[in-house]
Amino acid sequence: MTPLYQNNPIKIYNSLSGEKEILKPINEGHIGMYVCGPTVYSNVHLGNVRTFMSFDVVFRYLKHLGYKVRFVRNITDAGHLENDADQGEDRIAKKARLEQIEPMEVVQRYTVDFHNILNKFNFLPPSIEPTATGHIIEQIEIIKSILEKGLAYVVNGSVYFDVLEYNKTKKYGILSKRNVEDLIHNTRELDGQSDKKNPQDFALWKKAEPQHIMRWPSPWSDGFPGWHLECTAMSTKYLGEQFDIHGGGMDLKFPHHECEIAQAEACNGHAPVNYWMHANMLIMNGKKMAKSTGNYILPNEIFTGDNKNITKSFSASVARFFMLQAHYRSILDFTNSGLLASEKGFNRLMEAVNSLKDIKTDQNSTINIKSWQQKCYEAMNDDFNTPILIAHLFDAVKFINQLKETTESISNEDLNILQQTMHIFINDVLGLENVSEASNDSDKLSGAVELLIRLRQEARANKDFALSDKIRDELAAAGIQLQDGKDGTTFSVN
Ligand SMILES: [Zn+2]
Repeated sequence: MTPLYQNNPIKIYNSLSGEKEILKPINEGHIGMYVCGPTVYSNVHLGNVRTFMSFDVVFRYLKHLGYKVRFVRNITDAGHLENDADQGEDRIAKKARLEQIEPMEVVQRYTVDFHNILNKFNFLPPSIEPTATGHIIEQIEIIKSILEKGLAYVVNGSVYFDVLEYNKTKKYGILSKRNVEDLIHNTRELDGQSDKKNPQDFALWKKAEPQHIMRWPSPWSDGFPGWHLECTAMSTKYLGEQFDIHGGGMDLKFPHHECEIAQAEACNGHAPVNYWMHANMLIMNGKKMAKSTGNYILPNEIFTGDNKNITKSFSASVARFFMLQAHYRSILDFTNSGLLASEKGFNRLMEAVNSLKDIKTDQNSTINIKSWQQKCYEAMNDDFNTPILIAHLFDAVKFINQLKETTESISNEDLNILQQTMHIFINDVLGLENVSEASNDSDKLSGAVELLIRLRQEARANKDFALSDKIRDELAAAGIQLQDGKDGTTFSVN
C-alpha cells in the first residue's frame, strides 16, 4: 500500500528562510523532530501548553501520513540561568533554595505536574524525553570540540562561545535575522563583573559558586552547562548531526535557537536543522498574561473553573478545540467568550459525529465526499492549518444534518469515507476526545458491574458466602463500592 505521505506533500513555514517550503525528509519515510521542552521549576504555563499542543498535532499528522517519526522533547532540569543572561542563578537551584528542598525535588514535582497536564489535554508522549542532567557527558564533549576549533575560550573555570570569532566564517543571527554589529551596539553589560570577552558571547560551561548545589566535574571546573548546550547535545545524540524539524515557542528563537545553530555549526561544520518551526504566543483578554495583574490562569484551573477570568469549567477537549481554532503561527487570545463559543461548536460537532450511525444510505451520493476529504488533507498539508481543517469539519456537520433531513443522499461507500475521515481528523489528528465515547465506556462499566452484582446475588442464594464476599471485596479493591439496600444492590465508583 502506498503510504499517505506520498500523495500529501506538506508545506512548512520555515523560520530560517521565512517561506513555506515542501518538507523533504533526510531519510525517506522518516522524520526526526526536536522540540524544546519545559524548564521544570514551576507549574507549566498555558502558553507552553499551547506551543507543545501545536507540535503534538504536527507529530500526530505526520504519523497519520505514515511517516516513522522520532519525536524528541527534552526536560530542562539544570542550567537554565535567570533572565536567559549568562549571569545569575540556575532557576531550579534558586527555587530549591527558596523552598529549602533538594533541586531534584523541584524537578520531580514539576515534571509530574507537566506530565499530568499534558495527559489531561490528551497529548501523545514523545518518542524520547531526555533530561539535561542525564546528558552532562555529551555536553562536555561538545564543549571540548568547540574549544578545539578555536571558537570558545576558558576564563576562570567557565567556558564561553566566541560569537565574533564564529561570525568571521559563519553567520551568527541567521535565524533571528539579527546582525552581530547591531548586537554589539545594543548589548550592555549589566554588572561589569562578567568574564566574557564580548557581551554577546554565551556560556557553554559555568563554574559553580561554592553555594551552588547542582554541579558536575569537568576539565575546566566543578560547574554546570549553559542552557543552550543541552538541546544541541540531546538533538545530536538522538536525531543526528542533521535532522528534519526543530520546533519551539517564538520566544526561543533568540538567543536560544540562534545559539543552538552556532554550537552545532561550530562542532559539526554544518547546519543542524532543515526546518525551523515556531509557535506564536498565547495572550489572555487581549493582554500579556501576568500573575501580578490577575490576568492569568493555570492550565488546571480551566478544568476546575476556579479562576476569576472564566465563568465555568471547561473540558480538556473543549479547551484543546479552542486552542486549535487558531493557527499555530497566529497569536491566540484566551478569553471566556472564546471558550464558550468553542464549547458550543465542539458539542455541535460531536452531536453530528454521533448521529452518523443513524444515517440511511442510498444508491448514489448527492454530496462530493471525496472532494471534501481532499480539502481536509489540503488544510493540514498547508503548514498544519488546523482552523481551515476545523472549518471543513463544520462543512461535514452541515452535510450530516442535510442527510438526516434527507434533502441530500449518500452511498454506503461514501458514508464510510465520511465516518473514517471524521474520526481521523477529530480524534487522531486534532487529538479531541468524543464526549459520548467516554459515556459509552461508563455504560459498558455499568453493564459489567451489574453482571457481577447478579452473580453475587446467585452466590448468596446458594449460601456461597466466600464467593459473594470475594466479589464485593475485589470490586472494592478496584475502587467500586457495592451498597446493599432494601431495593437491591447499587454501586458507586471512587
Ligand atoms: Zn532548546
